[in-house]
Amino acid sequence: MNEKIKVGLIGSGATALFFLKHISDRLGLFRDHILEIAIFEKQDKMAMGMPYSPRTTDIHNLSNISSNEIPELPETFGNWLRRQDKRSLQAVNIDDRDIDDSKVYSRLALGHYLHAQYGKLAFKINSGGVAICELNNTMVADIVYDTDRSMVRVIDDSGQVYEFSKVIIATGHAWNEGDNPSAGYYASPWPIQKIIPPEDTYHNFTIGTLGASLSAFDVVSSLAHRHGKFTENNGELKFIRAKEAKDFRIQMHSAEGWLPHLQYAQENPMREIYRHTDRETVLSLVDDEGYLSLETFFQDVCKPALKSAFRKDKKEYLNELLDNPGFGILDFVDEMSGEHEYVNSFDGMKQELLMAEASLANNRPVHWKETLDDLMYCLNFHAELLAVEDHMLLQRKVMPFLLNVIAALPLPSAKILLALHQAGCIEMIPGKVQMTDDYAKGAKTKIILEKEDGVMEQLEYRLFINCAGQDLVELEEFPFRGLVDANLVRKARVRFRTAKNPHKDLENKVRDKVFEERGKPYYEIGGIDIDPAYQILAEHGKPIDAICDIAFSHALGVRPYSYGLQACNATSKIMVTAWAKDIQKDMSGMGRSREITQLYESTDDL
Ligand SMILES: Cc1cc2nc3c(=O)[nH]c(=O)nc-3n(C[C@H](O)[C@H](O)[C@H](O)COP(=O)(O)OP(=O)(O)OC[C@H]3O[C@@H](n4cnc5c(N)ncnc54)[C@H](O)[C@@H]3O)c2cc1C
Repeated sequence: MNEKIKVGLIGSGATALFFLKHISDRLGLFRDHILEIAIFEKQDKMAMGMPYSPRTTDIHNLSNISSNEIPELPETFGNWLRRQDKRSLQAVNIDDRDIDDSKVYSRLALGHYLHAQYGKLAFKINSGGVAICELNNTMVADIVYDTDRSMVRVIDDSGQVYEFSKVIIATGHAWNEGDNPSAGYYASPWPIQKIIPPEDTYHNFTIGTLGASLSAFDVVSSLAHRHGKFTENNGELKFIRAKEAKDFRIQMHSAEGWLPHLQYAQENPMREIYRHTDRETVLSLVDDEGYLSLETFFQDVCKPALKSAFRKDKKEYLNELLDNPGFGILDFVDEMSGEHEYVNSFDGMKQELLMAEASLANNRPVHWKETLDDLMYCLNFHAELLAVEDHMLLQRKVMPFLLNVIAALPLPSAKILLALHQAGCIEMIPGKVQMTDDYAKGAKTKIILEKEDGVMEQLEYRLFINCAGQDLVELEEFPFRGLVDANLVRKARVRFRTAKNPHKDLENKVRDKVFEERGKPYYEIGGIDIDPAYQILAEHGKPIDAICDIAFSHALGVRPYSYGLQACNATSKIMVTAWAKDIQKDMSGMGRSREITQLYESTDDL
């Protein structure tokens, strides 16, 4: 047997937690291979991660995932909640002790649950023969790879050096842009405490948010609860503004003016890569040059699955459109976006709320949304097969639509929004927002709004919060510079389908992302490059098997639809299973697309 190795895990959020879960599921194998796992966490509490920690999140911020939808951990969220006493539940904003596995609860409740699951997994792994070394309050400042010795050095922010044979980067969210509080500009709402006024003081003015994402609703909910009261009458929520806050108002800016789709009942709450297709079919669509075309995927894989879903949803009229071979993926995006487009987005939300309540109360799934989610999940794990042209289409047209549909705004959040709207405290402003060059120079944040009719208007806010969500981390922002300086990480890239003069049709903005390597044109799709087993790729595409990067914000170029706890779980599972196969010498070349798809097919719950 080879000598046992030490492993470093950087970050202890949900992705790291699921990594530990999958190690614990294969302890029989890993105990002979791993001596110790050292877990670095810059926060004090392990496994709460960014969205579920009291350091970043407020008691009014809801999760959008129910117990039924959370991938397997030692205990279910619902059962864990049922074991908590009244005071502990009230501390995380839960008054009703009749816990429902299909309901969503506060993100703080989820954070405490994840922390508790970490304790159980760490105990299991430790007592199963792999030592767990917990390094909380320890921020990793750099990583250096000693190529000659194949050892990875991890350096913390006090300069202490640790050495490992394998390191897994699971650093999750990264908000790299700085705030400018003197101009009232916040590059993200996190930690949310920074935008909440001190007790008995009020934001007695209009606040702007960029984006109408779930993060924007956290802002809305946290601020609204500090500027008035919600009361319920005959099931209808009303907002009464505090008398000291008569000018409190929120303007949400969103390019299309869309509010997100609402939470809905699902037939299969867990995503599955090959639920609506199989490996053979997907690989049969790959052309001679090695590309999977987005349109072919839509025609051959998505259409049959969507048609079956629309039949179940009694939306057969949409199948007539799908039956037309000329009806492509962009037509589909337009058609379904149109169904969600309203003259007044709040009136639209009101109508959709009634349908969503009925769907959840009668456990009547909305099949097409669930099917679309599965299909895009499948595509996500094959995205290295797409050409540049399709990556662009995906990023610009499909993803905004998809994130809006799959956002699944919890119904209690929708009710808060509608109550605020009725009280005249919130409005949606459609149109593209640009920050002015000197947007945060004065005492207010200045933005330029391009309205739907093309007219430009400058607006100013005393408080403006960018809620556009997690952007991918580019190589220039990659936190571990030792790897960048040694060319051990590189920009994620894809090839052009039309190799001849690919610059020709591109706008200036994207033309900068085209480069040539060994005579071939490539396009930077954003983020850093990994292989399908999450090993980092050095210069010339050489995988470094001692370092895996499962931080979704680094890999969003290559894995563009990796959001939420289910994706955290799948990512970790793929990485751990590929590693296990490697140890067992079960499959060679796990980093390659074709081999990894075998693993998608043969691994339960992927
Ligand atoms: C506001 C918000 C709400 C969300 N709500 C939901 C939801 O309700 N349901 C859902 O399914 N998904 C939700 N998500 C998606 C979310 O991305 C995932 O659920 C999950 O939190 C991602 O986990 P992670 O471990 O990858 O990242 P993170 O949660 O960011 O965890 C990374 C961890 O690494 C630590 N770390 C980072 N850098 C270092 C370093 N250099 N040294 C040491 N430690 C480090 C961090 O402190 C953190 O604990 C939400 C996302 C956001 C932003």
